[in-house]
Amino acid sequence: MKRCVRCVLPETFPNIKFNEEGVCNFCQTYHYQNISEESKKDYQTKFEELIKKYSGKGEYDGIMAYSGGKDSTYSLKLLRERYGIKILALTFDNGFISHTAIQNIKNVVENLGVDHIFYKPRFDLLAKVFRIAIENDIFSRKTLERASTICTACIGLVKFTCLKFAIRNNIPFIFYGWSPGQAPIKASIFKNNISMIKSMQQALLVPLQKFIGEGINSYFLNENDFKLLEKLPYNLSPLAFLEYDEVKIHSEIEKLGWIFPADTDTNSTNCLLNAFANKVHKQKFKYHPYVFEIANLVRQGFISRVDGLEKIETEEISENIEQVKLRLNI
Ligand SMILES: [Zn+2]
Repeated sequence: MKRCVRCVLPETFPNIKFNEEGVCNFCQTYHYQNISEESKKDYQTKFEELIKKYSGKGEYDGIMAYSGGKDSTYSLKLLRERYGIKILALTFDNGFISHTAIQNIKNVVENLGVDHIFYKPRFDLLAKVFRIAIENDIFSRKTLERASTICTACIGLVKFTCLKFAIRNNIPFIFYGWSPGQAPIKASIFKNNISMIKSMQQALLVPLQKFIGEGINSYFLNENDFKLLEKLPYNLSPLAFLEYDEVKIHSEIEKLGWIFPADTDTNSTNCLLNAFANKVHKQKFKYHPYVFEIANLVRQGFISRVDGLEKIETEEISENIEQVKLRLNI
């Protein structure tokens, strides 16, 4: 397969064009949105001002969407140790958390002195959501350029769960561990607003209601939540503007008892469903669902092109995929 010689985007990626040197149009226009050290500093300053302004007023300063993967673990460490933020870490258990990741989560929250919740919705319902996501076109093509349909559905539920906890418990910040390849710096500090949340919720809830019925409503916001407008929190993704170095991240989180899981695919350090989600996406769209994120990381110099290619070209473990199919009844 032909790929951009600078990043890793393949010829099958939507709207891609190559110049004579084999460089893709995404790379050619990239310098316009280049992220300078100066703008990172600006975001860091804004972040620190917000933390100062809103922390220490309630039971928790922030809730963290804590998957137990390397990026959210490192984010949690920075927030706790560098900024002293009082965090409630929340792990959304989709039924496919790697056993190593579960142990990692326990070790890390213990070592950092963080309160933690495992939130596990009914598995029969989640399995339905994942099957619906595979079998129907419930997301736009544009959305699926950045993540698989299963991941998009799962992350949607994670976001609404965190939002609900934050609104109902008066928590001013929701932290995410997005890598600089996933979260553009402009979206790294973001005050939630009601019209945006309503339209985001409609986009996911309406198709799910169609297949599942009203039973899915309790995983989303209700009219009372929307009335608590003034409490709508900020979303913060600190890795977009703080340091990001995979080698350093691994060595730092190992000190917290975090071990690299051997059972997940090359793009996840917590989720056993990911390999199957990737496989389905590749079969349907002919490109890897992580390729956009990895191309971003390569362009920004956070990982080498060779390492990026390895993450994309490594085949998923078939035993892992078969187990998922069995559990989802596919
Ligand atoms: Zn490129």
